[in-house]
Amino acid sequence: MASQLGNLFILAAPSGAGKSSLIKALLEKHEDAADFPMEVSVSHTTRKPRPGEEDGVHYHFVSREQFEKLIEQGVFFEWAEVFDNYYGTSRVTIEQTLHRGIDVFLDIDWQGARQVKKLLPDACGVFILPPSTQVLKERLNRRGQDSDDVIASRMREAVSEMSHYDEFDYVLVNDDFSVALSDLEAVVRAQRQRTAKQQMRHLDLIKDLLGDQNADR
Ligand code: 5GP
Repeated sequence: MASQLGNLFILAAPSGAGKSSLIKALLEKHEDAADFPMEVSVSHTTRKPRPGEEDGVHYHFVSREQFEKLIEQGVFFEWAEVFDNYYGTSRVTIEQTLHRGIDVFLDIDWQGARQVKKLLPDACGVFILPPSTQVLKERLNRRGQDSDDVIASRMREAVSEMSHYDEFDYVLVNDDFSVALSDLEAVVRAQRQRTAKQQMRHLDLIKDLLGDQNADR
C-alpha cells in the first residue's frame, strides 16, 4: 500500500478490556469535527450476528464458503481465524478511506495486527489492557451467571491475546474510562503529527517556508 494521507490505527485487546466502548466513544466525541475525520473499518466474519448486531454496520456477516472465496480472490488486507470463526478486513475500503485523508481504526486481534504491521509498518498499534485480573474476570462473566468453566475458558483466551501486548506501539490501561479515552486521543493526535504525514498534508506550507527546491529534498 503506497503512502496514504490518513493514518491506520490497529486496536487490539482481550475481550473485557473495553476496546469497542473506547472506539465508539472516540468516534462519537469527534463525529462533527471536520479536522478529526475517522472511521472504523467494518470487518467480514463467519460468526453469527449477536442480538442487536446489524449486517453492514457491525460486521459483514458471510458464510465460511463465501469467506474462503473472498480469501482466494485476494479481497482481504488481513484475515485470521479467531475462536473458530474467520474474521477479515477488506483491502479496498481501507485504501480508499486512507486515500481520502480519513483515519481508519481496525478493531482486530493480534494475528491480524501482525499482518498489518508487516504490510504497513507505519500503522499505529495500540493494545488495551484491563486494570486487573479481578476486573477482567468480572467483565468476562457477562451476565453474572456464566459457569466457572465458561469464565475460565474466556480467561484463557484473554491471557493468550494479552501475551502479545508488546508487539504494539502503545499500551493503554483501561481503569478509569475517561482517562483511557483521553490517552487514546493523545496517541491519535501524536500519530497525526508525524513528519511523513505532515509533509504530505502541509506540502504547500513547507514549499512556501523553504522554497520549492529545499522542500523537495
Ligand atoms: P467478536 O466476535 O467478539 O466481535 O470479535 C472477536 C475477536 O475478533 C476480537 O478480538 C476482534 O477484535 C477480532 N476481529 C474482529 N474483526 C476482525 C478482523 O477483521 N480481523 C481480525 N484479525 N480480527 C478481527
